[in-house]
Amino acid sequence: MQFHLNGFRPGDPSRAPEAVGQREADRVDVLIVGCGPTGLTLAASLAGFPEINTRIIERKSGPLEVGQADGIAVRSMEMFNAFGFAEEILREAYWVNETVFWKPDPERPERIVRANRIEDTEDGLSEFPHVILNQARVHDHYLDVMAKAPTRLTPDYDRRVVDLSVTPGSDHPVTVTLEHAAPGEDARTETVQARYVVGCDGARSAVRRSIGQALVGDSANQAWGVMDILAVTDFPDIRMKALVQSTNEGNLLVIPREGGYMVRLYIELDKLAEDERIAQKNLGVEDLIAAANRILHPYAIDVKDVAWWSVYEIGQRLARRFDDSDGTAPPHVFIAGDACHTHSPKAGQGMNVSMRDAFNLGWKLASVLTGRAVPEVLHTYSEERRGVAQTLIDFDRAFAAMFSAPPKTRDTDEGVDPAVLQSYFIQHGRFTAGTAIQYAPSILTGAPMHQDLASGFEIGKRFHSAPVIRLADARPMQLGHVVKADGRWRLFAFAGAGHPADPDASIRTLCTWLSGPGSPITLYTPDGADIDDAIDLRVVFRQDHRALALETMPDLLLPFKGRLGLRDYEKMFCPDPKAGDIFTLRGLAETGCMVLVRPDQHVAHVLALDAHQALSEFFSRFMIPQR
Ligand code: FAD
Repeated sequence: MQFHLNGFRPGDPSRAPEAVGQREADRVDVLIVGCGPTGLTLAASLAGFPEINTRIIERKSGPLEVGQADGIAVRSMEMFNAFGFAEEILREAYWVNETVFWKPDPERPERIVRANRIEDTEDGLSEFPHVILNQARVHDHYLDVMAKAPTRLTPDYDRRVVDLSVTPGSDHPVTVTLEHAAPGEDARTETVQARYVVGCDGARSAVRRSIGQALVGDSANQAWGVMDILAVTDFPDIRMKALVQSTNEGNLLVIPREGGYMVRLYIELDKLAEDERIAQKNLGVEDLIAAANRILHPYAIDVKDVAWWSVYEIGQRLARRFDDSDGTAPPHVFIAGDACHTHSPKAGQGMNVSMRDAFNLGWKLASVLTGRAVPEVLHTYSEERRGVAQTLIDFDRAFAAMFSAPPKTRDTDEGVDPAVLQSYFIQHGRFTAGTAIQYAPSILTGAPMHQDLASGFEIGKRFHSAPVIRLADARPMQLGHVVKADGRWRLFAFAGAGHPADPDASIRTLCTWLSGPGSPITLYTPDGADIDDAIDLRVVFRQDHRALALETMPDLLLPFKGRLGLRDYEKMFCPDPKAGDIFTLRGLAETGCMVLVRPDQHVAHVLALDAHQALSEFFSRFMIPQR
């Protein structure tokens, strides 16, 4: 973490100086509706931009305290790292290292037995583990990021969207009516004009309805029971993530929780009849406890305390578009998270996919609102994220059907073999970890013509971090951790085999070109801003860090920055052979290459080190010159 650039400041360095200036509440750049994980990810993405007037509202009276989702995939941990709170989550969360499968005992099918135990996340998939933590704690971290950002953004609670309309052509085309509904107060309304509105308002989204979209798919006919409990049990895998299939009593998922004692049980309940609602079943927590005991037989679970429980219904449903565009004019209203896709909680994807919708949209909105990118980039949000949601729905439908089917036993031909369920789970490990998502070529993502130069940095997928040593201070670290959620592009230049002190070294030629007039760095950096303000160049050399002399490096790699013109020493890296050579780990060509990474950590392009023109052309598709 870098700080003190503009002078020494005592206290918590993660608390940015507050931006001066009043922000109008009734005329905003972005209005975010809903303080779930989606709305808060978006708010945290925008809070760092003092020039953008962002407002976030929530109908509830305060932040979430218990319940809802708890699974945090490795890809979400990578994203949290960009926001600066992955380490806090790691310290507090339960780590899912292995998953256990239980099935009916072939000898005595009324009992369950342990079938298998597997690694949860394949080795090397990410530097972060898959973890479990209450959704409310994730919210707390986002609220903290927002409160420490220059805008000191805080949600306005007790406000509910009741109406939304768009008047094309005007400067602030979206008009939203909010109802103030604080307990004990008479309801009154307020009107807000916004350039953009993002509905992060959950499965019953009012914003979605207002733009004429509906969730299409299966009706919400699968009932689930979930409880966070403190209990005493003889079931041995209570501190392991466990998928339990019984012969006739149904299935459950054991999700150990943070803190060492609490556990969550997901219990699949009966399918609901058409038009039947879960409320009509009058289920209580005792019904869930009784069902859990039946499924876990011969083991028993004695519940001492229930922290939270819920029964809810869910269907696999998806909106046709995630914005209000007709496909030509750029959109002004977006929907994200549960507002545009719902599915079962079995694969722990709800919060994860939803937050990443917002991470995808946040930097695009910021780029357009700060005049750096053309509004057409906003089309890519629905294009990219709807594809992800469709894949999730397809996966969930298949997984849910397998999980709900009775396990095939020696005596029956029907149902699903527990081994098949297990192999489906393993096969889709990268998808559930969130690392398999790949955006198709678009104005923001290049075609894979030079993918062979960096086979381990797949274009369209998230930048797969790897270990390096920072040249200036010999610090071992993860290269991917330089990508922060700050709306900037990262250009990683991996050097070729020659020595960087050689005047003809391709990395020197690249630096000379990037420093010159007309290069993307020069063109897209506003006057007076730091040289890495728009595109942050980082170089990885092949040599051992002790074999290189810092003082021989091009000025662009030791740039003078900030009010005091201090040098930035954190632009150069070398392999860390003890942890694994990045050039080997990520399949980097002998000639070196450039890997361009979007602000949401996805690889936008892979190009040869001398592909200067191609790099310029790529940026010119959507970036607006600042000089
Ligand atoms: P949400 O978390 O639903 O947040 C939407 C927010 O918008 C809410 O705070 C809501 O109050 C607010 N809002 C709604 N309408 C308006 C309006 N008109 N004006 C202003 N504000 C509005 N997932 C799991 O994986 N496991 C679980 O056990 C689980 N349990 C859940 C239990 C419940 C009761 C719910 C609602 C969801 C549960 N989920 C669970 C799903 C998971 O929480 C979601 O996938 C995830 O929260 C999606 O985040 P979101 O921000 O898109 O929506």
